[in-house]
Amino acid sequence: MNNYLDIKVAKRAGFCFGVKRAVEMAFNCANERSIVYSLGPIIHNPQVVEKLMSHGVYPIDEIDINKLKEGDTIIIRTHGISLKIFKELEKKKLNIIDATCPFVKKAQEYASLLREKGYQVMIVGDKDHPEVKGLMSYAGENAVLVKSEKIKVKLTKKVGIVVQTTQTKDLLKQIVNKTLDNAKELVIYNTICDSTYLRLKETVSLANRVDKMFVVGGKNSANTTQLTKLCISKKIPTYHIETSKEINKNWLKNIKSVGITAGASTPDWIIDEVKNCIKDIGGKV
Ligand code: SF4
Repeated sequence: MNNYLDIKVAKRAGFCFGVKRAVEMAFNCANERSIVYSLGPIIHNPQVVEKLMSHGVYPIDEIDINKLKEGDTIIIRTHGISLKIFKELEKKKLNIIDATCPFVKKAQEYASLLREKGYQVMIVGDKDHPEVKGLMSYAGENAVLVKSEKIKVKLTKKVGIVVQTTQTKDLLKQIVNKTLDNAKELVIYNTICDSTYLRLKETVSLANRVDKMFVVGGKNSANTTQLTKLCISKKIPTYHIETSKEINKNWLKNIKSVGITAGASTPDWIIDEVKNCIKDIGGKV
């Protein structure tokens, strides 16, 4: 094994502000009550979800809300939920712990505000993403969902834009440009979260300085998958792993440096395990 294997860990690897807050809220909640439910897994990381379950936090689907009883505790995850579901929870008199990220909450408020002021609300985002489903419910009936500058829906002259927090500024610029062809009045709320943008930027910079990249996080995490694709697009050999157990010693042969980054839903302890495993094989931090 190469004795001079350098390990560089991205500064922004792991939990973002919103996820850290939600996970802490879930653990605090579990300490106070025996059973707590979350509407969907709190985050897209199987190891954290498992740990939360061992503390009594169980993910349920929307369809199971009916089975809950008055006073049961339910946690809303960082992506937020639709107005309809929120009202359902209230109607059932559940104890609601709202862990919606404050940045997502802000985007929901802007969507409502634009709707109230008579704008046609344009949500920029992925149609199947829970955050977007929530935003659409605040945006009113004539809201439109757009994912690229190829806008196929009919726009009015007065349009207000709100963006899914994980979208890119480049996409927003393209869409704004296109919308100007039609709109006479355009209001833009740039609700993109810098945490995602900075993490991507830092990952590119790190990937350019090392021989191989390890991207740590749930295989079901969109954010982690996005980081992996980005590294691969830079032609850097990249491994997307969930835990240190997946590391194969042979991956580290004949190289001088590795970079480690992680999605917003990856806890520090998993990143540390990966770092220590590579150290044990022959790396130095
Ligand atoms: S990525 Fe940004 S918006 Fe999303 S949960 Fe984290 S801090 Fe909140």
